Amino acid sequence: MAKRDYYEVLGVERNASLEEIKKAYRRLARQYHPDFNKAPDAELKFKEINEAYEVLSDPQKREQYDRFGHQTDFSGFGGGFNGADFSGFGFESIFESFFGGGFGGGRRRPPGPEQGPDLRYDLEITLEDAYYGRAKEIKIPRTELCPDCKGSRAKPGTRPETCSACGGSGQQRHVRNTPFGSMINVVTCLACGGEGKIVKEPCPACRGQGRVVRERKIEIRIPPGVEHGSRLRISGEGEAGLRGGPPGDLYVVISIRPHKLFQREGSDLIYEMSLDMARAALGLEVEVPTLEKDPAVLRIPEGTQPGTVFRLKGKGMPRLRGAGKGDLKVKVNVTVPRHLTARQRQLLKEFVSAGEDKGFINRFKDALGGK
Ligand SMILES: [Zn+2]
Ligand SMILES: [Zn+2]
Repeated sequence: MAKRDYYEVLGVERNASLEEIKKAYRRLARQYHPDFNKAPDAELKFKEINEAYEVLSDPQKREQYDRFGHQTDFSGFGGGFNGADFSGFGFESIFESFFGGGFGGGRRRPPGPEQGPDLRYDLEITLEDAYYGRAKEIKIPRTELCPDCKGSRAKPGTRPETCSACGGSGQQRHVRNTPFGSMINVVTCLACGGEGKIVKEPCPACRGQGRVVRERKIEIRIPPGVEHGSRLRISGEGEAGLRGGPPGDLYVVISIRPHKLFQREGSDLIYEMSLDMARAALGLEVEVPTLEKDPAVLRIPEGTQPGTVFRLKGKGMPRLRGAGKGDLKVKVNVTVPRHLTARQRQLLKEFVSAGEDKGFINRFKDALGGK
């Protein structure tokens, strides 16, 4: 697949200063960060922007790129090297075999700082928690920089020494002479594992790891109106970074326990209320529970039909984005008594024979699926 020009990706001129490149990168990274941009191609764009920035913000890589373009642009040279085995050769070694090793000094720096991994924590809360929003304390085990050696891995008072096997580059070169010139294979330095530094006296607290596992209490704020499945990002509370890199982020994934009275529909709440047929027919005032301390009062009008839904404005869930609250929808289920006392039977018979509204009872039965 053809790659876009890195300058084009960042929307800067070829002679842009480092400051201009940084500015363009920050603007685009914010725009396409997958946490904020839900467009399906945002993640790809974000990766492309990062890749372009990684090259253009590094003077050495930028120079290579300015002179030779993308690595894939070299595919056209393949014909002249029939049979040459490039497997296991990195970007740099290919350059060196073409340009006699004199290119760009050919020195790689040891691996740079790396951000720590993100953590995920699943938190179950009640509907009341989601309604009011709450501060919650959670406990997470995570890796942190060793407080004794501050991540250097060396015993306090000592410091890691530059690896003599690789001169601090973290890589070793193996030169192989071929009919096409000398091929240089670059591999990770075995002596230092690619770190470029050797720790002679490891820090006893972390046994030379530079990091320790700690259980941390972290207070998180649950915003009112939070939804089932929401991800809260807590910046910098993930695992420790490598080689001085920043820590990762903590993602708290919210799940909301089913409530015994209410169902939720976005910012609306649904409450199902049973009402016997006589009350539904006569109408009355009822109290409806809410998530607040006090119940709401609902006026049920005379002749309320089964399945009628009443709306209590502003008695639902807070809106996560935007102001105000949703509604509390009260759905009326009209019940028909299974057993009648003699007195009730008598009254209902009178009701039927009064004949004022025979259709009323029939509609009842139809609505309830009875006959
Ligand atoms: Zn330590
Ligand atoms: Zn080394």
